[in-house]
Amino acid sequence: MKKSDLTQRQWEILAMYDISQLSECLRLYPFRYEVIQKSDEIALLPNTNVTLEGIITSAVSTVRYQRNRSVTRFTMCTEHDCYTISAFNRPWFKASPEGRVTVIGRYEGKGKITAANLYFKSLAELTGVYPVYPLKEGVKQTDMRKIMQKIIINTVDSVPDEVPESLRNKYRLLHRKEALRKLHLPKSLTDVSETARTLKYEEFLRFQMSLLLKNRSLGVGSKIYKEFNRTEIENFIHKLPFPLTADQQIAVSEILDDMSSTKPMMRLLQGDVGSGKTIVGAIAMFAAVKAGYQAAMMAPTEILVSQHVLSLRKFFLDSDTRVEGLTSSLSQIEKTRILSGLSDGSIDMIIGTHALFQSGIEFKQLGLVITDEQHRFGVNQRRALIEKGADVDVLTMSATPIPRTLAAALFADMDVSTIATMPSGRMKVQTILIEENSIKSILDDVLKEIAEGNQVYVVCPAIEESDALQMRNVTDIYRSLEKVIGKKVRMAMLHGQLRSEQKEKIMNDFHQGHLDLIVTTTVIEVGVHVENANIMIIYDAYRFGLSQLHQLRGRIGRGSKQGICYLLSGQTDEESKQRLLTLVLSNDGFDIAMKDLSLRGPGDLLGKRQSGLPHFILGDILADQNILLTAKEDAKFILDNQQYTEYQEFVKKMMVINNDLNQGVD
Ligand code: ADP
Ligand code: MG
Repeated sequence: MKKSDLTQRQWEILAMYDISQLSECLRLYPFRYEVIQKSDEIALLPNTNVTLEGIITSAVSTVRYQRNRSVTRFTMCTEHDCYTISAFNRPWFKASPEGRVTVIGRYEGKGKITAANLYFKSLAELTGVYPVYPLKEGVKQTDMRKIMQKIIINTVDSVPDEVPESLRNKYRLLHRKEALRKLHLPKSLTDVSETARTLKYEEFLRFQMSLLLKNRSLGVGSKIYKEFNRTEIENFIHKLPFPLTADQQIAVSEILDDMSSTKPMMRLLQGDVGSGKTIVGAIAMFAAVKAGYQAAMMAPTEILVSQHVLSLRKFFLDSDTRVEGLTSSLSQIEKTRILSGLSDGSIDMIIGTHALFQSGIEFKQLGLVITDEQHRFGVNQRRALIEKGADVDVLTMSATPIPRTLAAALFADMDVSTIATMPSGRMKVQTILIEENSIKSILDDVLKEIAEGNQVYVVCPAIEESDALQMRNVTDIYRSLEKVIGKKVRMAMLHGQLRSEQKEKIMNDFHQGHLDLIVTTTVIEVGVHVENANIMIIYDAYRFGLSQLHQLRGRIGRGSKQGICYLLSGQTDEESKQRLLTLVLSNDGFDIAMKDLSLRGPGDLLGKRQSGLPHFILGDILADQNILLTAKEDAKFILDNQQYTEYQEFVKKMMVINNDLNQGVD
């Protein structure tokens, strides 16, 4: 097929779908199907769909009302019965009595049908299964069907298979070209389900391969096991100001087992916001240090680095452990001091941002790398750190928890520890949905809280005004709040574009209670801990993902007082509202992550950087978990048996795709 086989207009339509090459068209999938077949007339039930063919036996009358509205009525008789047909806004429908017509619509009962579509074609001609494509403005379903039909008929025969033949035979999957043909031009619903099974498997296999290839490129092999005295670690745990929860204990022992084995640790520690992941990480760091190694923790923001340094220093107060923080805002002298401490081994634990994996940094003996809030870091960044030591164990912490089996299916080569329960005595944040994008109705309540010594976060989706996206921004909201309450309330702005010292100063002032309110972006989303901050107001809440909102509200109610989170949203459609109500009704990070998964797919939720793939187009990771797990096993098998040619080719292809995806990840 040549580019010129499609018309100018058809290419214009495809451009709306970001498609400019024929090969890219195969990415476009129908999202559902329309089935046209004759209804069983004898069993017609009121308020159900109906498809019938018959003869028009009355005049066709059209009545116009209001502007541009009309209803067209006529009588149609089949062999069995006669029906009154009403069709709205089809003034062009003209037919003479005795003409044949096919009606698709809804049976209202009592011989009445409201037609959605009227055709002069016979029902026999129309009968079939039709793909329904997502539409862009000004594009009709028939346009899309014509385009895809032409493309499939002309190109599909040359589409090669991807799934290795032995696996295709094992699961009786279709050839890729057959699957694509049946996807776009199905003859029956059986075709559709057959093709879905094939394409889902293919999609999941590709996903699992890409995860495995990434993780394997992070280096599996063996390491020297770490030797530490478990009693010493137990003693450290006993001296903590609180007992560990059962889940924390299990996580700790799983991690210690990994560290003392000769297989490098690749573990994901997942738990809801506030479930206490940091202390588990700290214990692992302690063990690494006791085994004679250095430990590093990467955090996504400078604010978080400072906080982790403070809390780790507190934990290790009476041991001779040296804890330092490394951020890009340090002075040259401080930086030099830290760099030499890392290379001569006098620094035991280092917390840092991106600054940590710069090339100038050398460790005497790095043994553990912890990444906090994993999806903020790219694979290449993690790799850079791991390569700084020969015996490095890796622990990744995530605050977007998902059920264990699903996590196992999604995180190909990682082991998973889960903290499912919260430390006792934690109060749940109360969440209130305000259905307008304004603070007016709650301002008095907020001022009252501030007068009682509570602190407030105001979160906006943007920093400055932008024309394209009409989002609430920090600068405008700060200015308007300052006008109204600036005399009574000590307030500041906090966002990523400020210089590090400014950020740090504002956060410190807030921490120490010198500020009552900060207007901020999601820079505070991860980890920040201010006990007196009990109120959060989120503008344009609908613009955030559910898990992100849950993380955000995890910043409040961290002391002894009840936290209140106001979600402001002027978006009135029912879907947005229902989505936000999830947060009003649930405080469980697992629930929320699942809801988010089903709404957005794992690409967004777990971070595109983590999964390397966007949404699954066909596969539903919840409904199709079995296929996902099968694909995981098969992907492992393929990589372990690369000596066979059929696997070799597939792996090679996947590596090319993977490299493409990796470009620009970091
Ligand atoms: P996250 O999992 O979100 O990173 P943190 O590690 O920041 O959570 O822990 C939140 C708070 O809970 C911290 O103040 C921490 O000291 C406290 N905490 C952790 N574990 C326990 C526990 N077992 N009992 C009581 N408090 C705990
Ligand atoms: Mg944390």
